[in-house]
Parts: sequence; structure tokens; C-alpha cells
Amino acid sequence: MSDQISNERKTAYYIGIAISIAGVLLFLSVFVTGAMNFGNFDNFEGQTRSFVFRAIGGMVLFVAGKIIAHIGARGLAGSGVVLDPKKAREDLKPYSKMTGGMVADALDESGIPEMLDRGSEPKVVIRCRSCQKLNEDDSKFCQECGEPI
Ligand SMILES: [Zn+2]
Repeated sequence: MSDQISNERKTAYYIGIAISIAGVLLFLSVFVTGAMNFGNFDNFEGQTRSFVFRAIGGMVLFVAGKIIAHIGARGLAGSGVVLDPKKAREDLKPYSKMTGGMVADALDESGIPEMLDRGSEPKVVIRCRSCQKLNEDDSKFCQECGEPI
């Protein structure tokens, strides 16, 4: 039962995404109409007020949508709205399971684990001829005395 995200939460998630997209569109419309009306200063004050209103309204919608989607994905307790550690773990269980799976998939595809393995190999170093300090093999000058390597 707790492995499933409830329909209410799914709905909240999608509504939140939709609200934040609407917010982005509203915000971007400022630039679109701004570009279209470029050089038209007939009603400059009114336009500016409308731009500011839409820019702020768009940002508010975007943030509000993100919060709603966040709560929908993690549940009220899981997103910290209701402070209840036990419930939070239950709320987050399906979510972290899903995220964990996706992260593992993404890591496998990206080859990052291999890169990390390679990173643990010993570094090649070069000894400076004048002061004997060990420098990384791709450095052009000694870290200690500044002599060219
Ligand atoms: Zn040196």
C-alpha cells in the first residue's frame, strides 16, 4: 500500500507541473510582447506595469507550481509540510525507490562508475630538476620553485 503514490498526490503533482509551466509561459510572454512592441512607446507606463505584473505573476506561479508538484511527489510529510518523521518515511518510500532506480540507471548509462574507478589509479608525477618537488605530469611549471618542467 505505501509503495504506491496515491491518486491525490499524482493529481497534485501534475497540477503543480501545469501551474509552473503556465508561470514560465506568462513570464516569457513579457519578452515576446516586449520584443513585438519594441520602439512603441505610446502607452509606455501601462505596458511597463503589465510587464512587471506578468513577470512577477509568472515567477510566483512557477514557484507555487513547483511547491505543489514537490508536495505531490513526496507527500505532505515527505516534503516537510507536516512534521512527522514516520509518515515522511512512508511518503518518501515510493519516491526514493523510484529516484534511486533512475539514478542507478543513469549512472550505468553514463559510465561514471568506470570514470570514478579510473580516478583512483595512481597519478603520474614528474620530479622538478631544480628543487626535487613532485609535480603533476601535465604541469608546465614547478609548483614549488616555478622552474619550467
Ligand atoms: Zn621546483
